[in-house]
Amino acid sequence: MTLTDLPTHRRAAERTVLVSGASIAGPALAFWLNHYGFNVTMVEKSPTPRRGGYPIDVRGTALEVVRKMGILPRLQDAHIDLRRLTFLAGDGSEVVSLHPHTVTGGVTGRDLEIRRGDLTAALHAALPADVELVFDESIDTLEQSDHGVEVTFRGGGRRTFDLVVGADGLHSRTRELVLGPEEQYHRYLGYCFAGFTVPNTFGLSHETVLWNTPGRAAALYAAGDGDELHALLSFARAEAPNGAFQDPQAQRDLVNEVFADAGWEVPGLLAAVHEAEDLFFDGVSQIRMPRWSSGRVALVGDAAYAPSFLTGQGTSLALVGAYMLAGSLARHDHTGGFAAYEHDTRGFVTANQDLIGNGDPTLLPTTAEALQQRNDRLRNLSALPLRRGEQRIPRSPCPSSRPLGDSSPVHHFERSDW
Ligand SMILES: Cc1cc2nc3c(=O)[nH]c(=O)nc-3n(C[C@H](O)[C@H](O)[C@H](O)COP(=O)(O)OP(=O)(O)OC[C@H]3O[C@@H](n4cnc5c(N)ncnc54)[C@H](O)[C@@H]3O)c2cc1C
Repeated sequence: MTLTDLPTHRRAAERTVLVSGASIAGPALAFWLNHYGFNVTMVEKSPTPRRGGYPIDVRGTALEVVRKMGILPRLQDAHIDLRRLTFLAGDGSEVVSLHPHTVTGGVTGRDLEIRRGDLTAALHAALPADVELVFDESIDTLEQSDHGVEVTFRGGGRRTFDLVVGADGLHSRTRELVLGPEEQYHRYLGYCFAGFTVPNTFGLSHETVLWNTPGRAAALYAAGDGDELHALLSFARAEAPNGAFQDPQAQRDLVNEVFADAGWEVPGLLAAVHEAEDLFFDGVSQIRMPRWSSGRVALVGDAAYAPSFLTGQGTSLALVGAYMLAGSLARHDHTGGFAAYEHDTRGFVTANQDLIGNGDPTLLPTTAEALQQRNDRLRNLSALPLRRGEQRIPRSPCPSSRPLGDSSPVHHFERSDW
């Protein structure tokens, strides 16, 4: 199936779909469902499209999806042109400073690294006017029958849709309502992170600075020469801090406790955590589910198969998954469509989720020995010339111990119609 050979008789909008969540997977799905003739309503619990978030990668087949959506030029304009990547030791001294391409093998003009908020904005801008988008709203209850799904909304409304899709992220409410509690699908990988915006008082420009001690990392991303930086404090923690996930004050207290004795600029970052209005705290986790739908309700993106940011592939999976789900529904009724979506997409998803290795992530070596080895590897890397397109350590800013990159076959969804 391609954009041009779709069965046009399916454009008759015979089905209504409610999409919950309007970040990445949600608007991508809404776009493609609308393209195939469905009547789409999308609800987002935030009052506006959510900005912020760590710079994310769009690679491999996901690039093809955004190209087909017509937003590739806009995303290329928003590409973060990082020119330097500096690793620091615990005392703030420089371990090594590299051009990011030396590390990632990224090729200018191919892979994209953009602010998450810029991608969300581009996806929203691409939505046709007849996609109904309701902010500050979310699903309260769902009741399925043979004929549709009756939905009540937190805002008090009640409507019936033919289908409902949860694109509501790692902690999906839709999944909980239809397929049960998150615990059974959630795989905590032993790390937590707190992302937030700080003023660029460091004079950083188009670069990343990464500070480490065993089990702790502080990163600053200067996406351009603007006056804001994206800060990320990450740390290893054997048990998931379950009590903190819904409690911003507990998150701040935990980050404070973990980094209390840290050097370099970390004390200033801890002060900023307490002020930050856009704090995004979570465990580094995957969602692994035996099935992605139940009856007339399906899941897409992180809600169904979050791979964790250690893979750098969450956004790409969300984009590809949305495209696959919409295309499958265009060709089948919902039973066949959900089955085809899962059948055709699961291998790609699993290959990407399996990128998580067993060793320490490059971002976050947990022992002094592993940190030393990582630093030695980086110093050796800086001494070696890199062939075009070659990649020696992962492209993701938060890479796992296993090499990834634009050259990785797992980023490419092998189908004859791409
Ligand atoms: C503000 C923000 C910052 C992020 N920062 C990072 C980061 O720093 N590092 C990282 O690895 N990943 C981050 N992510 C997650 C990243 O965007 C996803 O891993 C990936 O892009 C897959 O996207 P998704 O659309 O499936 O899920 P998400 O991007 O998580 O989007 C889910 C959307 O659903 C909405 N939503 C949630 N519950 C409901 C509900 N009950 N009703 C209606 N809407 C709901 C959310 O507000 C959000 O807009 C961030 C996400 C957001 C929203």
